[in-house]
Amino acid sequence: QIILGIETSCDETAASIVRNGREIVSNVVASQIESHKRFGGVVPEIASRHHVEQVTIVIEEALKQANMQPSDIDAVAVTEGPGLVGALLIGINAAKAFAFANGLPLVGVHHIAGHIYANQLVEPMQFPLLALVVSGGHTEIVLMRNHGSFELIGETRDDAAGEAYDKVARVLKLPYPGGPHIDRLAHEGGEALVFPRIWLEQDSYDFSFSGLKSSVINYMHNAEQRGEVVNPQAVAAGFQASVVEVLTGKTLRAAREFKVKHVIAAGGVSANKGLRKSLKDTFSKEGITFTVPPLFLCTDNAAMIAAAGSVMFEKGHKSSMSMNGKPGMPLFDWN
Ligand code: ATP
Ligand code: MG
Ligand code: FE
Repeated sequence: QIILGIETSCDETAASIVRNGREIVSNVVASQIESHKRFGGVVPEIASRHHVEQVTIVIEEALKQANMQPSDIDAVAVTEGPGLVGALLIGINAAKAFAFANGLPLVGVHHIAGHIYANQLVEPMQFPLLALVVSGGHTEIVLMRNHGSFELIGETRDDAAGEAYDKVARVLKLPYPGGPHIDRLAHEGGEALVFPRIWLEQDSYDFSFSGLKSSVINYMHNAEQRGEVVNPQAVAAGFQASVVEVLTGKTLRAAREFKVKHVIAAGGVSANKGLRKSLKDTFSKEGITFTVPPLFLCTDNAAMIAAAGSVMFEKGHKSSMSMNGKPGMPLFDWN
C-alpha cells in the first residue's frame, strides 16, 4: 500500500511517499525558515504564499525521487489541522486536486497524530504506549492503548515547550527558530545557572513553561541593569536542564502509572540532544522500550503524515472532497 503524504500546516511545504506505513520511499521538505527569520517568527501570509509556490513542485519531486507515477499511489493523506488555516488550505487543495485527478481516496490527518506516527517509521508501536509530544505549539503526554486511540493525560497550561525555547532564544538574541541554538549552547560545556522546575500539583501531568521563561527573562533584565555581562551558554544550559528534567520526570511517572510497554517522543523539540539523552537513559534504566525519530522526522515533514494516514486508511477512514482546514482541530480516535 503506497501513500502520498502532504503537509503544509506551518512553514514547511512537504510531500512524501511511504510504503506500508513504515518505509519512506521519498521525502521532500521545502523549508521557509529563511523567509521568516527576519520577522523572528512565522508570518502566516508569507507562509501561504510560499506554500502556493512550492506545493506542486514538492509533490512532483516526491514522485520523481520515488521513481513513481500517480497511478502507483493508493491514497493521498494530508494535514487537515491544527495549524495556520491559510497554510493548511494550500496542502488540502493540492491533495484534493491530486486525488480527484487520479481517482484516489483522500485521508485527512491530525498534525500531532502525524508527529506521533513518525515513530512508526523507526519501530513498530507496542501498546500500551506513552507519547511525549513536544513541538512548537503542543506539549502533551498521550496514552495510546491501540492504534489511533489517543487519551490526553496531561498538557501545557501556557506555553508549549518549543514556544518557550523560541522565546528564551529571542531574549538571548539568537536567530529563529531558537530551539537548536539553545541546544547547541547548552552543550558547549561550562557553568549552568539554576532556574526553577515547575512541577505543578503533585499528581498532575500538566506542564507550565511561562514561569520558567519569565525567570530567565528576569535574570537577563537584572543582569543588564547591574551592568553585568550575561553568559548565554550558562543561561541556555540552565534553561534546558529545567525543561529536560520536568519533561523526563513527568513522562517517567506516567509510564509507571499506566504500565506502558513503549515510550516515544515526538515533535520538533524531540530533536533536542539533551532531552533525547535524558529520555533514552531514563527508560533504558527503567527497562521500557524508548524510541524517538531521527532529527529530520522530528520537525515538520510529510512522511509522518503518510505514516499516520496509512493506518487511518487501513481502518477505513476516508475524507470527503469538502474537507476544510481546521486550525484548532482536536486529536480524535480512528475507530
Ligand atoms: P506543532 O507541531 O505544535 O503544530 P510546529 O509544527 O510549528 O508546531 P515543530 O515543527 O514540530 O512545530 O517543531 C518546531 C519547534 O521545535 C520550534 O519551536 C523549534 O525551536 C523546536 N526545536 C527544533 N529543534 C530543537 C532542538 N534541538 N531543541 C529544542 N527545540 C527544538
Ligand atoms: Mg516549522
Ligand atoms: Fe509540527
